Amino acid sequence: MYAAPGVKTSPDFPIPETMKAWVLGNAGELKPAKKPVPVPKRAEVLVRIDAVAICATDLEIIDHGVPAMIQGGLPFNKNFTPGHEYMGTVVALGPGVDEYRIGQRVTVEIHAGCGQCKRCREGMYTSCHNYGLNYGDVDKGHRANGFTTDGGFCEYQVNNINTLVAIPDAMSDEEATLVVTAGTAMYGLTELGGLVAGESVVVTGPGPIGLLGVAVAKALGAQPVILTGTRDNRLKIGRELGADHVVNVRNEDAVEAVRRLNGGKGVDYVLECSGAPNAVNEAIRMVNRGGKVCLAAFPHQETPVDVAHIVRNNIYLYGIRGEGKSATHRAEAFMSQKRFDATKIHTHTFALDDLPTAIRYAKDRVDDAIKVVVKAPGVTAHRVAAE
Ligand SMILES: [Zn+2]
Ligand SMILES: [Zn+2]
Repeated sequence: MYAAPGVKTSPDFPIPETMKAWVLGNAGELKPAKKPVPVPKRAEVLVRIDAVAICATDLEIIDHGVPAMIQGGLPFNKNFTPGHEYMGTVVALGPGVDEYRIGQRVTVEIHAGCGQCKRCREGMYTSCHNYGLNYGDVDKGHRANGFTTDGGFCEYQVNNINTLVAIPDAMSDEEATLVVTAGTAMYGLTELGGLVAGESVVVTGPGPIGLLGVAVAKALGAQPVILTGTRDNRLKIGRELGADHVVNVRNEDAVEAVRRLNGGKGVDYVLECSGAPNAVNEAIRMVNRGGKVCLAAFPHQETPVDVAHIVRNNIYLYGIRGEGKSATHRAEAFMSQKRFDATKIHTHTFALDDLPTAIRYAKDRVDDAIKVVVKAPGVTAHRVAAE
């Protein structure tokens, strides 16, 4: 039986001692494994994972290791379980936890900072100064599940209560996995300007964060919202999520198109989600003088940037990492009020046992896959049984 001192459980949610988990072997290799079900400590709960979405960053980690960091180095052959965009049901409470109850449905954000460094104290826990320093005999209390600690490609995971977001019954498991993606877009817009009512926004790159960036910007009252990209099917989804204009950069110059659509002066904010080689130089020409550019994508190579143009035009550049400043809670608020339909980017669902197929769909964009979700077997049965 699963039991640990000070940990509360319930007979309604029996917990096994071991669970199925996928672990990273060599680069590109995910292997099925059995692991002990982890035990929550102070300020932590155990989440039964009901659904987990695959993110481009997971594909990056599985093939190249970074940005995951385990025991101070690459995550290969360390019994590490990736996966970070998951949701589920609270099934055990660590000592002293009364903020959540057993049986409550939650979605998670990724980063629990250490809570004691300068950035954590400022709410910038995704930039925790103790990132990844929780191995060996050091325990800084930092977790980033799926990056520096075990993640969601398994049946159960431990989460700090600060990484939990309660979700309403009406929100499906699949939609709930998208809250952190919308939260990342929300954090980018928070850093740019907070409320953007009546201001103009360009989102470059219609990946999941870009598409939900369009939705969040529109929900915040931005006008107009312009989306640029190369694939018409994704631009169409962008329109459905609130883009006033879409620009296929294969057909026209992105900078000229943005300026034409916005009276020649450029827009107030650019949310750069493409990671394209010339994206920064284009973004600083799409934005107006004194405007702000948020960089949310990881480009693969170093690229020269026209710094003089940035200085002459008093342009502000912000890099963001993940979903800081509780932006995930604000994104969830929009989603539970049905201000936009994030499920438009969910395209496929597989069982947890079929994770390698799910990953292939996400990676090769099989059948126009955008967000591929993996679900635990018997989740629905569990929930019905508990009610
Ligand atoms: Zn992600
Ligand atoms: Zn910290």
